[in-house]
Amino acid sequence: MATYDCDIGIIGGGAAGLTVASGAAQLGARALLIEKEKDLGGDCLHFGCVPSKTLIRTAQAYHTMKNAQAFGLPAVEVPPVDFFKVKERIQSVIATIQEHDSEERFCSLGARVEFGEPSFIDEHSIRLKRQRISAKSWVIASGSSPQIPPIEGLNKTPHITNKEIFSLDRLPASMIILGAGPIAIEMAQSFCRLGTKVSVVQRSGQILSKEDRDMADELMGVLAAGGVIFHLNVGVLDVRDTGHGKEVRIQNKDEEVSTLKAEQILVAMGRSPNIEGLHLEAIGVEFDRKGIQVDERMRTTRKHIYAAGDVTGKFQFTHAAGYEGGIVVSNAIFHFPRKADYTFLPWCTYTDPELAGIGMNEKAAKDAGIECTVFTEAFHDNDRSLAEGERVGKIKMLLDKDEKPIGVQMLGPHAGELLNEWVAVLNGKVKLSTLAAAVHPYPTLGEINKRVAGAYLSPKIFSDTVKRGLKFFFHLKGRACGLQTSQE
Ligand SMILES: Cc1cc2nc3c(=O)[nH]c(=O)nc-3n(C[C@H](O)[C@H](O)[C@H](O)COP(=O)(O)OP(=O)(O)OC[C@H]3O[C@@H](n4cnc5c(N)ncnc54)[C@H](O)[C@@H]3O)c2cc1C
Repeated sequence: MATYDCDIGIIGGGAAGLTVASGAAQLGARALLIEKEKDLGGDCLHFGCVPSKTLIRTAQAYHTMKNAQAFGLPAVEVPPVDFFKVKERIQSVIATIQEHDSEERFCSLGARVEFGEPSFIDEHSIRLKRQRISAKSWVIASGSSPQIPPIEGLNKTPHITNKEIFSLDRLPASMIILGAGPIAIEMAQSFCRLGTKVSVVQRSGQILSKEDRDMADELMGVLAAGGVIFHLNVGVLDVRDTGHGKEVRIQNKDEEVSTLKAEQILVAMGRSPNIEGLHLEAIGVEFDRKGIQVDERMRTTRKHIYAAGDVTGKFQFTHAAGYEGGIVVSNAIFHFPRKADYTFLPWCTYTDPELAGIGMNEKAAKDAGIECTVFTEAFHDNDRSLAEGERVGKIKMLLDKDEKPIGVQMLGPHAGELLNEWVAVLNGKVKLSTLAAAVHPYPTLGEINKRVAGAYLSPKIFSDTVKRGLKFFFHLKGRACGLQTSQE
């Protein structure tokens, strides 16, 4: 029987790789984790979720200060933002979380951590800094990088991506954002709130193109009212550095050309898998420009080599990467065949209001040819929402033709948190009648979940048939409103 240096080798120390390393090591496998940067943690910690959510919170606080009058408070003159200080706060949050993702911690769990960029030399071995290391199984969890589209002049024009935006020394006076996905939209609102003049350029006619149009448009309305300028249905002709700033020429569907000018350009036009230098072609691991091809058990075209997280190009979220890492541990270490199931994978765009979803939205249901009925409740009918000064948004609950919930979307305050109740309901197959009957504390935003389940049940409970039955059995006398009572 062939012998190997390790039971499992993991390439990439982000959400997916760290999940595999800690799971495998704690189960007694000899695990090797290889990271090319100087710290573990991956994009989420250093250039993604953590810095973006920290920035969003800072921008929210500044926005609230500027809008003190909306809360019945005196108007406040706020000084301009010193982005250097914002950057320091971001870095301190990263540093605190970094302790949890330290080399020492993974070593204490039993994993060996190496830093460097490995290349496969055969299907069981890699070369890392002149060492040859073999493993019975490998996991490619090398994540993704910002995709830089071949726009004329872009390669000669200084621009930023998520790798640079959280460590700017000062706040840009103006910024053009290319793309309108979650990263672009979160950054657009935050920088606009901090004082940057932001323009968003998008090829299609909708921001957040995977979301339902009504939800995306309502959110866009909020951002536009806050000052973000949107250019939808436009193509980018070229980009140039004038020496005093940057120019982006755009063309609309009527072939009208206009020039946008700004201090900075943020490129947020999708992601590319990090596979360069791994020599995957040589070992027969297949991939395309979106990512490494995997089956439901996260196996690549070489069955002992797995891939998980952003590098597969599927669901590019930290929680998806962690989930897929767990699937790899089941299959590679336990040898327990386990398949990934994304039916109820939640997601959230952390704008204000947040846009969160789980399962199918109307767009996905339509594409899949699934008939559905939609029940909605508006946040302006939720007492807590009004007390918080939040009037925008709604919840949409989708039921299939058998009246089973297939998805929920929410645009509203703390929608990402509110969605967690649906994570439990949908995964636990909880009946809507149970949700509607469960007592929720008043006044909470979460009552909207109970209300939308009630919206489905109400017509059944208060139907004419039920009323007729009660009248027959218990002699109920019907409507009281408008009834004339006899005078004494
Ligand atoms: C601005 C922004 C905001 C985001 N916000 C959210 C959010 O709020 N919620 C959410 O769920 N997701 C969010 N994401 C997405 C999230 O960051 C990713 O889905 C997640 O990091 C994927 O984890 P991963 O382990 O696949 O990859 P990564 O976390 O990127 O880890 C991959 C690791 O592999 C290393 N590596 C790369 N190549 C090699 C190599 N050849 N050899 C060795 N190591 C290598 C990298 O240095 C990196 O450390 C955001 C992303 C961005 C950019």
